[in-house]
Amino acid sequence: MRYDVLPDRVIGPGCGFNNVVRLHSAEVRIGTPLALSCPMALSFFMWERHALQPAAQRHFGQRVAAIDHLGSYACRDINRGEGAPPGAAGAPGPERSRHATANALDIAAFTLADGQRIDVRKDWRTGASDASGPAAQWLGEAHRGACRFFEGVLGPDYNAVHRDHFHLETGGYRMCH
Ligand SMILES: [Zn+2]
Repeated sequence: MRYDVLPDRVIGPGCGFNNVVRLHSAEVRIGTPLALSCPMALSFFMWERHALQPAAQRHFGQRVAAIDHLGSYACRDINRGEGAPPGAAGAPGPERSRHATANALDIAAFTLADGQRIDVRKDWRTGASDASGPAAQWLGEAHRGACRFFEGVLGPDYNAVHRDHFHLETGGYRMCH
């Protein structure tokens, strides 16, 4: 795990960094470095080590080498139905996304050591079974595993906005969809 520490700063109302690291790589390559809160970095590391890699060994006999992400930090409100379970009594008006405090990360695809790409948009199957093939099964396990190590997980079964990525977050509502 290679990272450096970002200085705390307030960027706008409800937006900013507190105890945030910039993650350059973990066991996997991550491309553009990610600003992540410490709980997010820890959850990511645990997910990778205890869910992603063991499941990849089981299904493919090799390791995950890289992830493709859609970013972590973004100063914005919850939009597109992300972040709050249906029926939660929210405060009136917009609410900041967990992305606004570097407590969320969106992942679109994974690359195995041999170069095979596993893409959430293409390979996700609701209720994947043996018949769905290893990529769909592995993605289902990656999603279930994320629910063990992050507080909030949203994927393609949650809504159309998440058809092409897993949204992973810490510090918010407990959710696993
Ligand atoms: Zn997200």
